[in-house]
Amino acid sequence: MKNWRDFYQENSFPPQNLDQLKASVVAFGIYPESLHEVEGDLLFLAKDENQKRLIVIGSGRIFEAFQGDTVIEGQLKSCPLSHENAKVLRQLFPFTSPVSHKGHATTMGLGDRLGLASPGHLKLIKDYPVFPVLAQQSIRELNLTQRTYDEVLDAASWAVFQEGYTNGFGADGDHLKTEEEVQMALDCGYTMITLDCSDHIDNTITQLSDEEVEARYQMLPVDVVQRLEQKYLNRSFPLENGETITFDPIPLKRIALTYCRSIDYTINLYNKLLKPLKKPIDFEMSIDETLTPTSPQAHFFVASQLIEGGVNITSLAPRFCGEFQKGIDYIGNIVDFEREFALHEVIASHFGYKISIHSGSDKFSIFPIVGQKTKGRVHVKTAGTNWLEAMRIIARFEPALYREIHQYALDHLDEAKQYYHISARTENIPDVHGLADEELPSLMDRDDSRQLIHITYGLILQAQGEDGTPLFKDRLYHAWNTYEKEYEEELIRHIGKHLSKLGIRKKSPEG
Ligand code: ZN
Repeated sequence: MKNWRDFYQENSFPPQNLDQLKASVVAFGIYPESLHEVEGDLLFLAKDENQKRLIVIGSGRIFEAFQGDTVIEGQLKSCPLSHENAKVLRQLFPFTSPVSHKGHATTMGLGDRLGLASPGHLKLIKDYPVFPVLAQQSIRELNLTQRTYDEVLDAASWAVFQEGYTNGFGADGDHLKTEEEVQMALDCGYTMITLDCSDHIDNTITQLSDEEVEARYQMLPVDVVQRLEQKYLNRSFPLENGETITFDPIPLKRIALTYCRSIDYTINLYNKLLKPLKKPIDFEMSIDETLTPTSPQAHFFVASQLIEGGVNITSLAPRFCGEFQKGIDYIGNIVDFEREFALHEVIASHFGYKISIHSGSDKFSIFPIVGQKTKGRVHVKTAGTNWLEAMRIIARFEPALYREIHQYALDHLDEAKQYYHISARTENIPDVHGLADEELPSLMDRDDSRQLIHITYGLILQAQGEDGTPLFKDRLYHAWNTYEKEYEEELIRHIGKHLSKLGIRKKSPEG
């Protein structure tokens, strides 16, 4: 196959017509939408020996700005997709920098743990009225994949450049818990902060008797009690759908005791770190990773207290009834979910923010409800499902490698269960050595094996042989780089199914 060197030999620069050139570059391993001309310099991404490089042709300011190997002095340069070059890219091309998603109805977190999924996501999303949050990782994910926020954002910026996607994307520091974590994400240029204050939610209150609740409540400062009671006690708050939220004494006290510390924590952190910022930041409050489902009263209380404390909420993630396990459909009673979700949605609209659905991968049975009730004004987070589609590629094209990894995952499942709660039962997973090669991809369609591969991603990527070299990681990346197109196609199909179940229709052409 020809490469970018041949492209350089066979054409004259600067090109006469960039659009015409785009049509002919695929044959050289060049990403057509990445072709950009600035001040007479031409730059683009190309694949070379299974690696992506930034190629710059010219002699001007742009040529000098990027660091790389000079192929022809003052004419041709091949640059790595490094952090330094990503910073230059973001300066030269503002669309490769993340931005706030305020004003966009449907927003979607498309976590990319491998730094490989965003091009496929963009190829899909460009046809839909959906704002993508491409860089989205929690600290847990960073630790398990041994990546940094810089690397996660850089991968998104390069993907946006590769696809020529100029409609804007977000970067979400997901499930951040401490001031240091929030500050780190902000310093790296992240535009969305998801604060997880679950460590400050008191889950023990639900188990207390009414008398115990009363006793604990009396220990709160007098002025706090006074203010709470004045504001909420025996009062009813009408919502836009005709329902009202009311607070009886004991439920109010339970809610106050459960959430007060987390509310104070959030208000302090917000006012200290986020309020002073000049540029808009999307702030999400996540109370989803806790034991008890968020009642509509609790949701109302938390939101109302945060707003009174000066917090500008973009989205809030309640803990819904039922189970939102990773990488599989909703587990629970759909009728109950629908009733509760409708109320959560009305509360969110009442205060002017949107509901955020965490662990939104593959929740196909409830997506129609989510789409209808929110009329598309919602944030949905996915991440693990993009990793699973990457593993489907391995199952399809590298069956021997897949079997090795599958066995490794089974052998290390107990370790992975420390990080993620799943209900998968290994006895339901067929013996991988008894399956024919062409049957392996179907493991990615079965809940038990999906969850097995889903939660072991960190162990798989970090696994080392006795000599300290990666057991799987290099072979995996080699395969994913080889089957790049096929991975894109699987993502377009699978995330496309998310959009269609949510009822999101393609943008009508030009208008
Ligand atoms: Zn969450």
